[in-house]
Amino acid sequence: MEDISVPNTCKGCERDIAISEEQMTRILNNMRPKMECVNDEVYEARLLACSQCEDLLAGHTCGISGSIVRVRALAVTQSCPSCRGSRW
Ligand code: SF4
Repeated sequence: MEDISVPNTCKGCERDIAISEEQMTRILNNMRPKMECVNDEVYEARLLACSQCEDLLAGHTCGISGSIVRVRALAVTQSCPSCRGSRW
């Protein structure tokens, strides 16, 4: 039987998960016109909660939803999806 070559690393895991401030600004600028946004006060309160959350990954990604918290927290229609109780 012929051996089948299987990669020993996951392609997705080779990617750099860091997001630069430039990339983040571009993402936010693209998203803002497409959704109803919370005001600055609510936005900062949400981001503060995320910054203190044990489920925050790499400083930018929610470990529960997989979303970038600076995008998710901006949307009026979104909420914190924590199974331990929503933080916002
Ligand atoms: S679980 Fe809630 S508070 Fe924690 S990172 Fe996700 S959205 Fe933010």
